[in-house]
Amino acid sequence: MKVVKFGGSSVASAEQISKVIRIVTSDPDRRIVVVSAPGKRSKTDTKVTDLLIALAGSVIANKNHEADLKAVVDRYAEIQRDLQLSPQVVETIEYDLRGRIAKRGKNDAQFMDAMKAAGEDCSARVIADAFTKAGFPAKYVNPGDAGMLLSDDFGNAQVLDESYPKLAQLKDVKEIVIFPGFFGVTKKGDVATFPRGGSDITGAILAAAVKADVYENFTDVDSVCAMDPRVIENPPAIDVMTYREMRELSYAGFGVFHDEAIVPAVHAEIPICIKNTNNPSAPGTMVVPTRAPNERTVVGISSAPGFCAIYIDKYMMNREIGFGRRLLQILEDEKISFEHTPSGIDSISVILASANIPPAKEERVVGRIKAELKPDAVVVEHGLALIMVVGEGMHYAVGMAAKATRALADAGANIEMINQGASEISMMFAVKDTDREKALRSLGRAYFGI
Ligand code: ASP
Repeated sequence: MKVVKFGGSSVASAEQISKVIRIVTSDPDRRIVVVSAPGKRSKTDTKVTDLLIALAGSVIANKNHEADLKAVVDRYAEIQRDLQLSPQVVETIEYDLRGRIAKRGKNDAQFMDAMKAAGEDCSARVIADAFTKAGFPAKYVNPGDAGMLLSDDFGNAQVLDESYPKLAQLKDVKEIVIFPGFFGVTKKGDVATFPRGGSDITGAILAAAVKADVYENFTDVDSVCAMDPRVIENPPAIDVMTYREMRELSYAGFGVFHDEAIVPAVHAEIPICIKNTNNPSAPGTMVVPTRAPNERTVVGISSAPGFCAIYIDKYMMNREIGFGRRLLQILEDEKISFEHTPSGIDSISVILASANIPPAKEERVVGRIKAELKPDAVVVEHGLALIMVVGEGMHYAVGMAAKATRALADAGANIEMINQGASEISMMFAVKDTDREKALRSLGRAYFGI
């Protein structure tokens, strides 16, 4: 059995929904279909979720919201017309939206979630009708009825473990299940949503619950690229990578897929396949628990600008018990997450996104480091870019670091820092933001011959 998820651009119009029907019905294993709200039909278009947020905002601000409501209803009306569904579908959607507004309680965050969830909910109802009209019996399933129980962190909810046994029953539904992504209900019965982009999470939960053979995530690119296509022209496609490689590559350039969103599928070790709704015959990218290590040494190179390093020097640091803990405690107290901590005998650096440490926080952190750790020196350097060279095969291959450092030297990019991931499947290089592009080009030549 396959759980299949279609993102916003895959259900943005009647034409796209027709593709969804063709894709799902071309494979009898595609039994559970998770859908997003209609997304953008063109670059300048607005997603239905954003229209719903605007609508809810107008209601909360006590403004006239008729135009905002019409903008949402019109999106579904266009789909209904083009798919030649009964006009009653649109009447029901308008009635549903007005009902949600009428039921608004005191909690604005909860109201916002109820409105946002309407996007996926209506999408699933329309798509279930479209399947049935095309001659393929399909059933809209309401997440609340199916047992998708979430915490009451509105807008940022998490699934509750007790959801899984009940959701597992979805595998016994005879018809094709059309399940709205992005939301569930709290124990009190209120609608709550995952963070934005959360339909991926719904798909991963259902794949784990029914123990699917594969979780197919349909989007609008053929596959994940080995390098950021915005920086490097025509990078090679990745045909298969492991969950660990995907995580290590999760810096910019791999945005096609939200690695956090698929945690339930990763825990259940369900293989994930990223595919293109507009070109379904392309094999896509498989993300799997393990792969043969010698197939391809380096699977991808990701990078992101906007990092900083806090360098701390102290003679005899290696003998000072608790130094690292006390340093990281300061960051924890300030609620700062960090990326890497390369260290030497008398020095340690903490690398983090500059956005996580605005100037006032930086001053406090540096002040505390000086007062509490009494270092010989502490320096914060901004304007760094991280480059991750990632591949399971690196563990076994000789000369991988030499290849990378030579490529960076050829590019004239000074290496500010190197860290070989503890997992030995990645190498991190920090270079100046201004050297990032030329460093990437040179690495692309060295590893992929591009
Ligand atoms: N429609 C929601 C969003 O735009 C969720 C999703 O598409 O995954 O964030």
